[in-house]
Amino acid sequence: MANNDFLKTSIEYLKGVGPERGNLLRGELNINTLDDLLSYYPYRYIDRSKIYKVNEIKPGMAYVQLSGYISDIKFHGHKRTTRMTARFYDETGSVELVWFRGFKWLKNAFKASVRYIIFGKPSEYGNKINIAHPEIESSDKVSITQGSGMKPMYSSSEKLKNKWLDSKGINKLIKTLLDDSRLKIEECLPANIISDLKLLNKHDAIVNIHFPKNHRLLGRAIARLKFEELFFIQLNLLRLKKLRTEKARGIIYDKVGDFFNQYYYNVLNFDLTNAQKKVIREIRQDVKTGKQMNRLLHGDVGSGKTVVALMSMLLAVDNGYQACLMAPTEILSQQHYVTISKSLKDIGVNVGLLTGSTKSSDRAGILKDLVNGELHLLIGTHALIEEVVKFKNLGFVVIDEQHRFGVAQRAKLWYKNQISPHVLVMTATPIPRTLAMTVYGDLDISVIDELPGGRKPVKTIHKYDLNRLKVFGFIRDQIKKGRQIYIVYPLIEESKKLDLKDLKDGYESIVRAFPLPDYGVSIVHGQMKSADKNYEMMRFIRGDTQILVSTTVIEVGVDIPNASVMIIENAERFGLSQLHQLRGRVGRGAEQSYCILMTGVKLSNEARQRVETMVKTNDGFKIAETDLKLRGPGDIEGTKQSGILEMKIADITKDEKILKVARDYAVKITEQDPMLEKQCHQKLRKKYEELYLEKKSWSKIS
Ligand code: ADP
Ligand code: MG
Repeated sequence: MANNDFLKTSIEYLKGVGPERGNLLRGELNINTLDDLLSYYPYRYIDRSKIYKVNEIKPGMAYVQLSGYISDIKFHGHKRTTRMTARFYDETGSVELVWFRGFKWLKNAFKASVRYIIFGKPSEYGNKINIAHPEIESSDKVSITQGSGMKPMYSSSEKLKNKWLDSKGINKLIKTLLDDSRLKIEECLPANIISDLKLLNKHDAIVNIHFPKNHRLLGRAIARLKFEELFFIQLNLLRLKKLRTEKARGIIYDKVGDFFNQYYYNVLNFDLTNAQKKVIREIRQDVKTGKQMNRLLHGDVGSGKTVVALMSMLLAVDNGYQACLMAPTEILSQQHYVTISKSLKDIGVNVGLLTGSTKSSDRAGILKDLVNGELHLLIGTHALIEEVVKFKNLGFVVIDEQHRFGVAQRAKLWYKNQISPHVLVMTATPIPRTLAMTVYGDLDISVIDELPGGRKPVKTIHKYDLNRLKVFGFIRDQIKKGRQIYIVYPLIEESKKLDLKDLKDGYESIVRAFPLPDYGVSIVHGQMKSADKNYEMMRFIRGDTQILVSTTVIEVGVDIPNASVMIIENAERFGLSQLHQLRGRVGRGAEQSYCILMTGVKLSNEARQRVETMVKTNDGFKIAETDLKLRGPGDIEGTKQSGILEMKIADITKDEKILKVARDYAVKITEQDPMLEKQCHQKLRKKYEELYLEKKSWSKIS
């Protein structure tokens, strides 16, 4: 235990830290304890075995190492010194060194006769190359061949650098800690994993991550620490899931009844895809077990998730329970309501709609019928989770477009029945598998990986704004063929006013180009009253108008098979997954559909890559992978709140293989020893408690 206590020591007590730097380390880098310092890993390594010549260096190069002499120290500044420069030269030429602080100490630090090794990043200033704040050591002190020559780089901050805690300073602190005789780095992974995977032990991994002896050991240290990080995340997710499935009793649906069968045999006018059938089977399995179901249904836009949800809800109704479906927008709820109530009308299932704009007179009736059980299915927005909405016996909850809701909102629906209802959350946001395993690691995952037959892939085309007239011509042709057109404008919170103006200007120019009585144009945006929004939307759904100009309010879920052209204005301003969602609004009927991405001629590199990716592929998973690479995981919708992605060393965009292995081992251990009671898992348990339970007692969780 002594060792543990030592690592828990507050950082300020480390030799060379003290209260002031301690506060900075805490505030700037979240390093609170010695243990935190040990796991503050370098973000990269620089090869110090190479020495450059001055005439080889160019601005924009990464860090370089030079060997030569220092002369011509000068001070610059008005009244007081603001800058100090020096000339650094070798046989091939010279560069300027520059400092903006630390003059007093530096003033007499260099001797003209001594050869120095300097290390820094060249940059360009007024046509000259200089190196600011280089690291300098006299060459007799540096043995270039010593160690691996791999120099670790730690991220630091201005405030820390002012207290000499730059990368090198941090490395020094770690050295002090590693040299402390009280330090003992214990293994935390079970011996069999270490030997199966031939992992480096914890001690060697920590030493080599900070002070790599050679490339091979550094590689092994990185691999080991990535594995450890991913493994503990998975272990935690799986344990939570296990506890939930074991503790949370679930309603049992043991029969398939008339509602389900009538819908399947008499109402449904298409064959389910195999993927849809598979998912329905998975759900039916879940609801027989007596455990609460928590399942994520993941399927690309247009893959037909709604019908799966509906049939699952009918199963609940067949077994005497109510069900509800929550969608993120009013328009989407309304649309679900219209299609679902229409298809269930003849088989006697009562469906209600509850949103923020439901009239209070209707509302009272709905709430009453919910309590007395008259109403079988309730569809709506987050109005459903309000306290006043009480069910007689809610047995099944569907959340559509889950990525728009927070986890807390999902949980609220759990408590609307004494035994938690089964929960099916659906999302079309294509998440790469690695991310799904991590963000949704505590849910069971079903995938619809097949689109209904007979659909033609959407053709995606990139057009510059200056070709607008051609695009208008194309729109006319399509309308002549009986199709409908979406035109979408970006609306981003920060520039809302400007965006709204763009949208309205756009609308006006469309109305001018497509005048009545031959054409009708609808407009929908978030600032409109919801009654107006619905009116405009319904005109488009009924086919009274051929063009719908809107913001991204239509992004999610809207289903109008006759609309076959999606035009996205300022496409460069949308993220990839949003573009893909928008494109998913078309391509739902039998006709060839088109997605036209309009942009200016000038595009940033990243925007161009997004547009090119869209033109190249319709595959949601490929798009998700690219998105992840372009933006990094922190930005993907629905993942921010999870916090799970703040990793120290692993990177799920790159470490998929390690993640899979880590998950497999975590699964095995969770199955064999869920409470981590076995002798061989004691170290593991200790680490787990440190990471996830902190002060909470183990017994409360188990
Ligand atoms: P999403 O998964 O994006 O929510 P929807 O459930 O809205 O997709 O389905 C898209 C369209 O495909 C709807 O018009 C729906 O009726 C239709 N659809 C669903 N499943 C099938 C199928 N197996 N065959 C033909 N059409 C289907
Ligand atoms: Mg949908």
